[in-house]
Amino acid sequence: MSNTIQAIRGMNDILPEHSPRWQHFEAVVRDWLAAYGYREIRTPIVEQSALFKRAIGEVTDIVEKEMYAFEDILNGEHLALRPEGTAACVRAVIEHNLLYNTPQRLWYAGPMFRHERPQKGRYRQFHQVGVEALGFAGPDMDAEHIVMTADLWRRLGLTDITLELNTLGNAACRARHRGRLIAHFEAHQDQLDADAKRRLHSNPLRILDTKNPAMQALVESAPRLMDDLDTDAIRHFEDVQGLLRSNGIEYRINPRLVRGLDYYNYTVFEWVTDKLGAQGTVCAGGRYDSLIEQIGGKSAPACGYAMGVERLLALLEGSGAVVPATPTDAYIVHQGEAATAFAWQVANALRQAGLNVVLHCGGGSFKAQMKKADASAARYALIIGDDEAAAGEITLKSLREAAEQARCSIVEATYLLQSRN
Ligand code: ATP
Ligand code: MG
Repeated sequence: MSNTIQAIRGMNDILPEHSPRWQHFEAVVRDWLAAYGYREIRTPIVEQSALFKRAIGEVTDIVEKEMYAFEDILNGEHLALRPEGTAACVRAVIEHNLLYNTPQRLWYAGPMFRHERPQKGRYRQFHQVGVEALGFAGPDMDAEHIVMTADLWRRLGLTDITLELNTLGNAACRARHRGRLIAHFEAHQDQLDADAKRRLHSNPLRILDTKNPAMQALVESAPRLMDDLDTDAIRHFEDVQGLLRSNGIEYRINPRLVRGLDYYNYTVFEWVTDKLGAQGTVCAGGRYDSLIEQIGGKSAPACGYAMGVERLLALLEGSGAVVPATPTDAYIVHQGEAATAFAWQVANALRQAGLNVVLHCGGGSFKAQMKKADASAARYALIIGDDEAAAGEITLKSLREAAEQARCSIVEATYLLQSRN
């Protein structure tokens, strides 16, 4: 076994027994996004690494430590597997001039890549569904995003997810706050870890996002951005909260919520659960009014969020929610030349009628074929021998109930299989 090739650490196969859960999730998500008027955008998985450096920030965990960045050996271009979806979405919107006179409600879904230490709920290839609203400045859009997410939890039957909310203010508030933060951390140099020391002057706000337990006390005693807000920032935050309250959304203000990416301002939020251990954030986002200009577009306000699909599916699994599987209606067994030709016809006719049909392949005795039918989880076996073929009929046998087998025409079989769906 030692020389077999295996999947890359932290990158998972999604096996057929698990895909119904994924498909169910994706179907609910698609309907939900349509219900709010969001349209899908699909961008490439590989982008120039400069895009992520510029969008996410050079001094962030993602860009410094987690990005799969590499040089294309064929032409020397600096490329990266996307670690998140917002940067590429904004890049595409600028490139195709989608914001010309029209704000956009967009969504994307797919795999993201981060070179992290794999553990439960944290993988190197993981999946996100993300939502971006570009060209909207008001607090109503921040609130729409939060309210619609609460609706998704309801549609999925998920409870045990709570909302944490904060504001990062605007550039002026943050500049004021930055000075006070640097002073605080400088006064406690000896307690800073290597990351914090390095970020002290380049990105002090990021120190608040540390996962190092030894730094928690210092972070707790740091000055609060909340105290550096100006009237515009306070009004925006209060308006968002007013809309949340009038829509019956409960939340907790968490002044320590800063998010791991540089591009946020004003509202930031996370949906968290205590049911998944350490990896408890299932959805996170906020406003990023400066990002479009930062990537080279004409300045426009925007906000958005992304959810971690693996974490939500783990939650869904733990919640005991019923996931409808796609049934196979019939498994066709057949033997003999005429029977086989007829079996292909029957399979086609039933599929045209919208039924899910497996046609036995690989020959074998009726007995061996029936074993395959039993193991297939189909509802019915359709048995076709030369006798049936000559009469243009099918012998139908339930694989779930102890019922007599019955002989019938294609039309009757179609009707029966449809009516018992
Ligand atoms: P964390 O603090 O858990 O590292 P993050 O702040 O890096 O999360 P975002 O970049 O905001 O995460 O991504 C949005 C969501 O995507 C997260 O809330 C989480 O549910 C999911 N996510 C992020 N990184 C991973 C990963 N490596 N594996 C699985 N899911 C992830
Ligand atoms: Mg992270």
